[in-house]
Amino acid sequence: MRFVIVGAGMAGILSAVKLTEAGFDDITLYEKADRVGGTWRENTYPGVACDVPSHLYSYSFAPNPEWSHTFSPGPEIHSYMEDVARRFGVFDRIRFGTEVTRMEFVDRRWRIETRDGGRDEADVVIAATGVLHHPRYPDIDGLDDFAGSVFHSARWDHSVELEGARVGVVGTGSSAVQIVGAIVDTVGELHLFQRTAQWILPVPNNPITDTDRSRFRGDPAAMRELRDQLSKTFTEGFANAVVNAESPQMKNLELLCEANLENSVRDPDLRERLRPNYRAACKRLVISPNFYDALQRPNAHLVTAGIERVERDGVRTVDGELHELDVLVLATGFRVDRFMRPIEVFGRGGIALETIWAKRPSAYLSISIPDFPNLFMLNGPNGPVGNFSLIDVAELQFGYIMQLVEGLAAGRWREVSATHEAAERFEADRVEAAKSTVWVTGCRSWYLDDRGIPAVWPWTFDRFREEMSKPNLADYELI
Ligand code: NAP
Repeated sequence: MRFVIVGAGMAGILSAVKLTEAGFDDITLYEKADRVGGTWRENTYPGVACDVPSHLYSYSFAPNPEWSHTFSPGPEIHSYMEDVARRFGVFDRIRFGTEVTRMEFVDRRWRIETRDGGRDEADVVIAATGVLHHPRYPDIDGLDDFAGSVFHSARWDHSVELEGARVGVVGTGSSAVQIVGAIVDTVGELHLFQRTAQWILPVPNNPITDTDRSRFRGDPAAMRELRDQLSKTFTEGFANAVVNAESPQMKNLELLCEANLENSVRDPDLRERLRPNYRAACKRLVISPNFYDALQRPNAHLVTAGIERVERDGVRTVDGELHELDVLVLATGFRVDRFMRPIEVFGRGGIALETIWAKRPSAYLSISIPDFPNLFMLNGPNGPVGNFSLIDVAELQFGYIMQLVEGLAAGRWREVSATHEAAERFEADRVEAAKSTVWVTGCRSWYLDDRGIPAVWPWTFDRFREEMSKPNLADYELI
């Protein structure tokens, strides 16, 4: 069987390793960029890191004794991805600089076209195209009039000098918070444009000692034990808390965030301006040990007046004030409803994905779309994306997909895709379950779809693990 994997980020590398391990050899990864690593290749802003502990944000099959910190910096994670790809022979299978533009299911095979005019065919396609991939640029008047440098957080312009510069950051999500903490002591003046205040969970980021690193080198079991323990803590403390807004774990997270604000911000006026008017974790919880400290530096300014427009010399807020700037960073998030798109995808009978997803993207268990046989998504629509390891999520999803692929390989079926009935039932159950999550307790966030329904897995992580352990074949059309 021939496999095509779209994307050589975390999930694409995983898919290639696992397919090879299962004995498949005819595998091509298409990667539009010139390096592996996905989000870790693209996000190079100062302070970029993963707020999932590194020993948990690692492939289970490639533990890394060398992690430098509890939450290691982005470049280290990127090197790890490259290293895994190299060690497991994934590089040989990648076509870099080759963007897939069209895929169509014809005569039981996927026909694939690439931007450079290339054509390919595959029995199975794995879409490992990521979630937080397409930058969302804000609709602010005058952005083009700005005389200084302006760029999105995921398109950091490293040629721009920050030393002594007057820098504005728009947004208060995880990206902005990491950027602010990292640049405040370098820049001349820092202006943070806050539309909505954030709850901040303070988790210290300690270096991992040489002693621990050498222990991990000699004793992989100790690393596995640590991973399991972190996974348990994360699952219980976060993943299971946020899906039950009234759970004791949720209350605990709220208390920790409130205490952080009370204890860390000295000036009562600043404290009130930083106090959110919604519950902690309603928006994706931001983790930072130094954000409040950074905002209390003499050169830091929190701007809470709304942005009126951008002008040649800076940002004009609705109170009439002009905040003069040399650099403007748009940490304004991502278009989270794209998934495989803009690839044009056509399923059975030429049905267009764009038509099926015209309102919003959906998929059975976030993996399979009715009438799009032998096409599987990793980290697809409405999957678990909370404060836990997306590597864990992708590994569990891949284990599930592999069972469907094995049926194809053994000739038990030649086409496999979720039934319409199963996909509709899953979606209805998901929407119902979302009503008791903390994400619907009154805030705006990227989790919410156009109807205000969280576009994420609304059940516990244990349930996700259970669902991923074995496909229910009754929910699949097997031909
Ligand atoms: P985000 O959470 O979507 O935050 C975007 C920010 O931009 C929000 O504060 C938003 O304000 C603001 N904004 C958007 N348009 C605006 C406008 N026109 N005027 C003023 N403000 C505007 O984006 P992100 O920080 O890039 O993070 C996205 C996700 O990436 C995170 O939630 C997380 O899942 C992931 N991430 C993870 C890490 C990590 O450590 N693991 C690090 C970075 C990112 P409102 O709140 O008012 O909408």
